[in-house]
Amino acid sequence: MPTLALRGKIIITGEIEAVTGLHIGGAAAGLDIGGIDNPIIRHPVTREPYIPGSSLRGKMRSLLDRHFGKEANHFIQRREPVVRVHVCEDERAYAECPVCQIFGVTPGEPGRRGWTNLKPARLIVRDVYLAQNHEATERLRRAKTDLPFTEIKWEAAIDRITAAAVPRQNERVPAGAVFAPFEFVYSLYDLNGGGSNRDLEWLRYVFKAMELLEDDYLGGYGSRGAGKIRFQKINVVFKSRQYYEGGAEAEIVRLAENVDDVRQLPLAEYADRLRKLIRGG
Ligand SMILES: [Zn+2]
Repeated sequence: MPTLALRGKIIITGEIEAVTGLHIGGAAAGLDIGGIDNPIIRHPVTREPYIPGSSLRGKMRSLLDRHFGKEANHFIQRREPVVRVHVCEDERAYAECPVCQIFGVTPGEPGRRGWTNLKPARLIVRDVYLAQNHEATERLRRAKTDLPFTEIKWEAAIDRITAAAVPRQNERVPAGAVFAPFEFVYSLYDLNGGGSNRDLEWLRYVFKAMELLEDDYLGGYGSRGAGKIRFQKINVVFKSRQYYEGGAEAEIVRLAENVDDVRQLPLAEYADRLRKLIRGG
């Protein structure tokens, strides 16, 4: 029987700043009178804009696919912005694939892809809301924006043959908005008693994906300037299995306290520290 044991969790938190306007699409208002063409997604209760964890995660995954040159063979999202990702088709490829180990494989048809059993995703990405009690949010609240917390950007789609301009409206969260706290949870597993070395080693690709995302865009209209984001005030802690079993506070280990720390987090340093803590239990 294959076994899977949790060895601990690495929790990455911080803020996401919209460096340029941010458009993460919601359902179009359609026939509403005065509805806009391309609304953003809003929290159903507070009506505040937020970043769905699935958008953030899907984008990080697709950037990592491209980084490793993996073929995008699986749809995450068919509506704009289309997100297609790579998913390993067999267990041998999976064993060597940081992307599928970090982000998970979708179970296939029963039988054909039975190997996908006991293959949990390492990374959880939570929804990120507008930072509460934050100066940037207060500023947005006071600003006379077109809609609560957002601006409407008019753009013209130009017909390539007739040159007729069709005006379109896009709703955006203005530059300077801060979403916080973001939270990524990366689990360290031990599969079949083989240890957690691989998981430790591949944690660095989570940071790599964050870096790639900062130089890409989140949401729609990226080629037209929207969606540049910055991760800031990053904090990385490790909670061991013992911590979850009710152990001492000492089991929370701080690995990095800001973005530069993360960039310089040398694999050997954190991996050795964590390996000792994992073995300690
Ligand atoms: Zn893969």
